[in-house]
Amino acid sequence: MTQYKNLIAGEWVAGTTEVKNINPSDTDDVIGTASYASVKQVADAIAAARAALPKWNVGTTQLRSDALSAISNELFSRREELGELLAREEGKTRAEAIGEVGRAANIFRFFSGEVLRMRGETLASVRPGIDVTITRDPVGVIGVITPWNFPIAIPAWKIAPALAFGNAVVFKPSELTPGSAWALADIISRSGVPAGVFNLVHGTGALVGDAILSGVDAITFTGSIKTGRQIVQRATERMIHVQAEMGGKNPLIVLDDADFDIAVNCAVDGSFFQTGQRCTASSRLIVTEGIHDRFVHAVAERLGKIMTDHALKAGTQVGPVVDQRQLDQDLRYIDIGVSEGAKVLVKGELLKRPTPGHFLSPTLFTESTNQMQINREEIFGPVAAVIRAKNYEEALHIANDTPFGLSAGICTTSQKHARHFQQHSEAGLTMLNLATAGLDYHVPFGGRKASSYGPREQGTYALEFYTIVKTSYLSV
Ligand code: NAD
Repeated sequence: MTQYKNLIAGEWVAGTTEVKNINPSDTDDVIGTASYASVKQVADAIAAARAALPKWNVGTTQLRSDALSAISNELFSRREELGELLAREEGKTRAEAIGEVGRAANIFRFFSGEVLRMRGETLASVRPGIDVTITRDPVGVIGVITPWNFPIAIPAWKIAPALAFGNAVVFKPSELTPGSAWALADIISRSGVPAGVFNLVHGTGALVGDAILSGVDAITFTGSIKTGRQIVQRATERMIHVQAEMGGKNPLIVLDDADFDIAVNCAVDGSFFQTGQRCTASSRLIVTEGIHDRFVHAVAERLGKIMTDHALKAGTQVGPVVDQRQLDQDLRYIDIGVSEGAKVLVKGELLKRPTPGHFLSPTLFTESTNQMQINREEIFGPVAAVIRAKNYEEALHIANDTPFGLSAGICTTSQKHARHFQQHSEAGLTMLNLATAGLDYHVPFGGRKASSYGPREQGTYALEFYTIVKTSYLSV
């Protein structure tokens, strides 16, 4: 059994408490133990990061590019092994997990190139004999706090740009996925990144997360809206840079003129794959009258054939729910939907499998309204609700009538409606004839309203959060 230690100032150190990493497909399988850091160790990690900054932030372009490239290469070459670890601790299927490791590798490769593309501007001053240059400095020590549902890709899309642009990092992964974080930290520690530039601390949000917030220069967070709100408040009190990516209640509109098979595929994939545990999952299926009955029955038929089982078993399409707390939340929302009067077309059942795991089959509600709690709050499980709409205009109104604004999709063959939707959707990501989940790694990612706070992540847009603009006047 592996002990996942903390990486502080280039040394692997044990913390104060050991916490078991349990496989959600088989709760008898203890994968390892996470060694939770103390508040003092978090302060040490922040101090080590600050002390290491001068070794990393100026004149190290080649070193930074090479290190990120080395991290990418190792992730690629070990994607099967790391994918298996990820599937074992998080519960997504082997194929989904290997794909996620590949995504992390691609992100590091992308940013190894971005290091070399850092540029500034020179402008003539309005005063004679003076040049003005505009350059970007690193922000300093970045706190990285991440959720469990993409335990290697989300850390990658925060850590890669942080390092690329010359920052130091203190990284706290989710309590539920310490193994993938530890494996990534191990790779980074051997990549040529100087000791102290990258630090890993395990622990709870309340203790370790909070201690990170007290000392870093910027915080990048992905997780629930409840935690995100607390983090944004703390960060703004300290007047440090903050970026928070949070939940969604993503709509998929299906119009009468949609390609039927594409629409069914988008709904099944977007709502239920990865156990519905994606911030971009479609949880509200808004369907117009003419296609409604045929569509819901086709989706229900597909759900009846989905194989929910151990994440590493061949043939599994949907893995387990991540833990008992999330399972309780899913079951509670299913009860709420029933009590609110939504019709249960497909009822999620707790499944018995050869291994004891948190197996829940998909739930599909129909005849729901957008005002129901199941359509207002993020459930984060294999549960979706269908809402009838009279026409495109009503469907768009329902899609936008939500506190969230992460991803929104439409299935239609009408160019007019597709274009109108792209222009009038109040989401950060829009999808035409595609599932609301499933994104490229080299373009900006983020939402609107309660789903996101601060600058966009990923692609060239990551520069905005991880650097500070400097305007220099030179009298020559
Ligand atoms: P969570 O908010 O419970 O935890 C996220 C991280 O924050 C964890 O590392 C946790 O330990 C830490 N944390 C908790 N309380 C803290 C505190 N007071 N101070 C500092 N850190 C604290 O979220 P989760 O259950 O791990 O993840 C699921 C959520 O993440 C869902 O809401 C999902 O929509 C969201 N998510 C969003 C995106 C996105 O990019 N928009 C992507 C993936 C997941």
